[in-house]
Amino acid sequence: MAGIYIHIPFCKQACHYCDFHFSTNFRNVNELVKAMKVELNLQSHYMGDEKIHTIYFGGGTPSAIPTHLIGELIDEVKRLHRVSKEAEISLEANPDDLTKENLADWKSFGINRLSVGVQSFVNEHLVWMNRAHTSTEAINGLTWAKEIGITNITMDLIYGIPNMTMDQWKSNLQTFFDLDLPHLSAYGLTIEEQTHLGHLVKTNQVQTEKDANYNLQFEYLMTQTQKQGFDHYEISNFGKPGFYSRHNTAYWLGEKYAGIGPSAHSFNGEERRWNVASNMKYMTMLNKKELPSEVEKLSKKDQFNEYVLTRLRTIWGIDTNQIINQFGADFQNNLKSSVQPYIRSGHVVFNGNSYVLSNEGKYLADKISSDLFVVD
Ligand code: SF4
Repeated sequence: MAGIYIHIPFCKQACHYCDFHFSTNFRNVNELVKAMKVELNLQSHYMGDEKIHTIYFGGGTPSAIPTHLIGELIDEVKRLHRVSKEAEISLEANPDDLTKENLADWKSFGINRLSVGVQSFVNEHLVWMNRAHTSTEAINGLTWAKEIGITNITMDLIYGIPNMTMDQWKSNLQTFFDLDLPHLSAYGLTIEEQTHLGHLVKTNQVQTEKDANYNLQFEYLMTQTQKQGFDHYEISNFGKPGFYSRHNTAYWLGEKYAGIGPSAHSFNGEERRWNVASNMKYMTMLNKKELPSEVEKLSKKDQFNEYVLTRLRTIWGIDTNQIINQFGADFQNNLKSSVQPYIRSGHVVFNGNSYVLSNEGKYLADKISSDLFVVD
């Protein structure tokens, strides 16, 4: 189940909460895509000869660059790899880019899944976050995407925005349900230090203490999505059966993937590789046909901790047979004892084969997984 992630490092403007790698200067977009094609060639054997089942355009804002560049990158992937006929090919898009023309172009290139960064349907939230779109643009764009025949659509929402009322959150979710989309990613707002929001918090201009609303909003999200027939298959992801993100699921299940573009990460089962987070340095290195990446061989302990971190967030949980086969009895014994307090408190459930978070445990996912880590 190998996949390719392609990071498009351009955005129209910087959202106040975001710490992803991107530039708001589009001047070098053609040169950068040219460099990405060089990287695709240099990395073409990274995952051996595995068939490609998913291609994912993330960012940044892939929808903000000229559409033909997306088509060229897909063609290059297909020229270099065996790509499954049923491959999931996803594109992250912002609502202001969802024009009928762009949608038709992407579909003609083979994009069959859209991930739309809506974040909120309340315009005052969008202004507060410095998003480049309005609520109406989101609703229109999503409606056109469906009309044009793209059925596999997900959108992002953010909860825990300061001063967001429970009624606003209920209304955001209701609008999502009314749009009748098969997948939702919902994230609690996190404050990253190196962002504008981080600065506002540091200078006491924004109050961030997670208030009761944050947990109430998460609880409402879980109950309502369940009522509407969504599976809560990862802590931030809700999908109708048959519409889970295949790309992200493969990542959570530890499958191989190659990451192309500035700041992109790759994993081939043995090592993790990450590209420089600078568009200029990335292009300069690839002009010299050199990979702009650093490599880390993962120790068994690192692999175990990463397994715990990603798997505990999913409905598949921590598979004890896999722990024994992949890491050995010592790791399994250690896990068995460190998880006991959470079994007793009801935050983790053992289903006979795997350790899985209960609904109560989902509020404490990060804390629980760090308590299960093996440390030196
Ligand atoms: S559009 Fe997405 S990647 Fe770009 S700044 Fe906003 S949240 Fe970050």
